[in-house]
Amino acid sequence: MSDLPAIRVLPDLLINQIAAGEVVERPAAALKELLENSLDAGATRIDIELVQGGMKYMRVVDDGQGIAAAELPLALARHATSKIRSLEDMERVATLGFRGEALASIAAISRLNIVSRTADAKHASRIEAVAGELSAVEPAAREVGTAITAEDLYFNTPARRKFLKTEVTEYGHCEDAVIRAALSAPEISMTLNHNGRAVWQLPPGNMGQRVQALLGQEFIDAAAAVEENAGPFTISGFAASPSYSRSGRDQQFLFVNGRFVRDKLLSHALREAYRDVLHGQRHPAFVLFLTLDPLLVDVNVHPTKSEVRFRDARAAHQFIFHAVNKVLGRPVAVAGTPSAQTFEYSIPVAAKEQTENGNRSLRSRNFSFQGSLGVQQPATMYAMLNDDTARRFPQTALTDTATGSDITRADLPPLGFALAQLHGIYVLAQNAHGLVVVDMHAAHERLLYEKLKTAMSQDQLASQPLIAPIAVPLAEREVELAEQSRDFFAALGFDVTAMGPRQVAIRAVPAHLPGLDAPAILRELLADLAEHGTSRALIEQRDEILSTMACHGAVRANRMLTIPEMNALLREMEITERSGQCNHGRPTWYQFSLADLDKLFMRGR
Ligand code: ADP
Ligand code: MG
Repeated sequence: MSDLPAIRVLPDLLINQIAAGEVVERPAAALKELLENSLDAGATRIDIELVQGGMKYMRVVDDGQGIAAAELPLALARHATSKIRSLEDMERVATLGFRGEALASIAAISRLNIVSRTADAKHASRIEAVAGELSAVEPAAREVGTAITAEDLYFNTPARRKFLKTEVTEYGHCEDAVIRAALSAPEISMTLNHNGRAVWQLPPGNMGQRVQALLGQEFIDAAAAVEENAGPFTISGFAASPSYSRSGRDQQFLFVNGRFVRDKLLSHALREAYRDVLHGQRHPAFVLFLTLDPLLVDVNVHPTKSEVRFRDARAAHQFIFHAVNKVLGRPVAVAGTPSAQTFEYSIPVAAKEQTENGNRSLRSRNFSFQGSLGVQQPATMYAMLNDDTARRFPQTALTDTATGSDITRADLPPLGFALAQLHGIYVLAQNAHGLVVVDMHAAHERLLYEKLKTAMSQDQLASQPLIAPIAVPLAEREVELAEQSRDFFAALGFDVTAMGPRQVAIRAVPAHLPGLDAPAILRELLADLAEHGTSRALIEQRDEILSTMACHGAVRANRMLTIPEMNALLREMEITERSGQCNHGRPTWYQFSLADLDKLFMRGR
């Protein structure tokens, strides 16, 4: 018994070192805390210097409000903060920090040095801490703001030091922390130096400019603006189109009330929003800012504050899903033009209604799309039609193939009129912007898929009886399975009946898929059913099944299309949600602007 160790209170340094294990488990975490402090201090400029991935040396200099000389020792004390005073304050906290443990933790595992000056101080003051041991406060020289240097991180905690990865890895994490902070505050100028090399020099700007600087023009070109408000939630930012998808999660930035978070729930909502248009192995790219009343979200879930808890998690999930799904589902937007910051869309009201209008206008004499489709067309399309490319060629006229009458540039529908078919694969069309190239099979497949989904959500797929039933030879097992699955096939618009032990007859096919290779799809569906079972297949795999059907029903390569058929395809694409990507997330069409072509031919204007 006497061998049992006695219970004792741990010394402060050890407490701080334990806390450091959570709060600043690696250099990037320490850097994140320092950056948050600078942002909380109202800085307009933050300069960051790192040596050896931040392990050797880390310096953050800001022009924020500074720390008063008398408070410097307190800033380094554990649970000392200027940001909250009560539980109530914490529940509505608007600053990034509030736990008062970051500086104490960093000081416990490094050689720390703070030089700071407030606006009303005659001069700056300095304090130093080595492994948590504080020096006296001394006068120093610098302008208003704070400079914090942390050297030799983890020098006194060898066990922790052993967990550090290579310089390259630790630096990578540090750079991520800088990028996140920079995205969260585009109005603040920021610089990052590593091993004496300038990595980032970010001038103050707006969100679009900051995103462009950090994620590149390619991201901006592929991104749609997200801007939505409902109930307590507001979201803004950019969501890249599925064709820009990445093999990793490196371009997924989600901020809640200005705080970068990794949140399973919100990630799931985003994944869902992209699900229909993104291949399973790919990851979407986005920069999104969710804001809501701080009372409705708990940020004190984790020491690093990178997780949050919503009071109404379901509502948050739904809101994000819908906001992003909506922009991804929008009909055609032209990649590359105009820049994402100026994107402005209108939302399709009811797809069905539009299809009817679309068909009507197809038949109407002069293809006056602005009149017949009105605001239901994406605003960018009209912007395109009226931009200066259009103005450069006011005389250009096409001939309406149906009536022979002239159509002016301004009347051109968004995806233009078909010119020809290329190698049985691509449809070429001329629109106000230049040349449109459509992957005919991919586009058609998408149209069918959307149609099937709409039809399916209403009840079941309409069925089209065949004049002559098709006999399909199958294995015995398959015939049995087909018999057991008659309801399943009926829901999809098929009438399948056994005609003996090794043969079935298809007597009806889905009305939406006149060109369907029925025996092929039947075999494929049976294989699916054999693998996944029948009972829940339609519920759990509905979209996959419809996608398979769309693929089989879509025009195959090498099918010659007539010009009216091609135009019909283009018109349908214009009014179909998500028609910009095929079911696997690849683009279905591409715009070559006249400017692109000019460049190709080095033709200066
Ligand atoms: P917290 O941010 O949770 O309050 P910290 O340990 O990060 O805790 O910082 C302690 C206190 O030191 C802060 O509350 C703030 O008053 C002060 N402080 C830290 N860094 C800065 C800075 N760059 N500029 C101004 N004040 C700072
Ligand atoms: Mg802090």
